[in-house]
Amino acid sequence: MNKLADNLKKVHDNIASACAHCKRSNSEVTLVVVTKSANLDAIKQVVRLGCVELGENRVQHLKLTADDLELFLKSDPALPQKISWHMIGHLQRNKVRQLLRTTDIIHSVDTLRLAEEISKGAEKLDICPKILMQVNCSEEPQKYGVPVGAAIHLAEQIVTMPNIKLIGLMTMAPLTLNKDIVKACFARTRELFEEIQGEKIGGHDFRHLSMGMSQDYEIAIEYGATILRIGSAIFA
Ligand SMILES: *Cc1c(COP(=O)(O)O)cnc(C)c1O
Repeated sequence: MNKLADNLKKVHDNIASACAHCKRSNSEVTLVVVTKSANLDAIKQVVRLGCVELGENRVQHLKLTADDLELFLKSDPALPQKISWHMIGHLQRNKVRQLLRTTDIIHSVDTLRLAEEISKGAEKLDICPKILMQVNCSEEPQKYGVPVGAAIHLAEQIVTMPNIKLIGLMTMAPLTLNKDIVKACFARTRELFEEIQGEKIGGHDFRHLSMGMSQDYEIAIEYGATILRIGSAIFA
């Protein structure tokens, strides 16, 4: 087996055993393959291997890759015919319009103004994009994401907007080998998630927790992640 297929299988196997370990069903967890560091050939390969949920952190790269892949998929009916794109990186308001036609879920909504821009742009296109609210669970000042203490209020404001659908929370744990710090972050995000659900903000749509990257996805599963964003463990 080649390296990429081998890596992907390892990730799938690890996800399955982490789910089994905490008695969750594998089907509750979606793997988003983060392609930001991969070349187009490698991306085509993961699609051939059945991955149809892809994530990018830059608008321009997402659009270019999406266009290239569309041609590739059209060239062979045996390939999956649709890719779901996840925008996972920091998003500037002036890039929102170009993104809306291509992306399925925006993971990085962390201000009222950004949410408003998305809803306004979506209204013009007559669509209602799914978004996640990014939370700064580690309270590191340089990090994006709404502070935990301001999150409920922002969620309440977002759900009043007509052309946006709040489906959950996204977070990034700090890059550290100290598992206790990572666990504390995921636990805090999970608590916030349950609090928002408890107050019925967002209703039944609000049911996703996007957390867990190459270094910490098994821990994230333990804390209830439903969407994992994994790049280097697959492409490295
Ligand atoms: C790059 C990135 C990932 C994936 O990180 P890996 O460590 O390569 O798995 C996940 N989420 C976000 C927001 C990223 O920017």
